[in-house]
Amino acid sequence: MKITIDPGHGGSDSGATANGLKEKDIVLNVAKKLKSILINDYENVSIQMTRDSDVFVELNKRADLANDWGANYFVSIHVNAGGGHGFESYIYNGNVSSNTINYRTIIHDEIISQVGFYDRGKKEANFAVLRETNMPAILLENLFIDNKEDAYWLKSDENLKRLAIATAEGIAKALKLKKKTSTDTKTGYYQVVTGSFEEKANAEKRVEELKKAGFDSFIEYEEK
Ligand SMILES: [Zn+2]
Repeated sequence: MKITIDPGHGGSDSGATANGLKEKDIVLNVAKKLKSILINDYENVSIQMTRDSDVFVELNKRADLANDWGANYFVSIHVNAGGGHGFESYIYNGNVSSNTINYRTIIHDEIISQVGFYDRGKKEANFAVLRETNMPAILLENLFIDNKEDAYWLKSDENLKRLAIATAEGIAKALKLKKKTSTDTKTGYYQVVTGSFEEKANAEKRVEELKKAGFDSFIEYEEK
């Protein structure tokens, strides 16, 4: 599953700024956390970042990157401004696939229920990154930087981690990503079998040969 994560703004474009915060910094922080959670916790996930540092990237370029890569899903991360508070999500206001709608519903609801944001609703807009991407796409507006309480919440790195986890789990539910098991994270071990024998003497002979060659080995008996 190829997921493009798009932290809004960057470089000369700070996005919204207020209360000592810059949108471009918050969204990059959340995007990086989201990337590592998805890579570390789920199977078969590839992540493309439209930016992973403080650089300016044109809106069309962001969509082109995802289109050229053949992303299966596009997630744009923003922080709101303009006098309001709470969380809202966007999909394109033109023709969209049923997956676009379904994925958005699952992710939006997961973030609201996990983080407890005030819910401003599921919205549609003619945003370039939503319009120009060929795959299902979502844009998340995570609180208002110019609202005192929202800004206070956004100042905590622990809170941003919670937001990244909720977003990751929403994406995982929507895209039906499989969580890695303990074996995948290598807390188990792998055994190498070099032979099976009907005669015990032959098994012992093999163990001797392996020991001479410097390999630790042992015999296990199994009923047919
Ligand atoms: Zn923005």
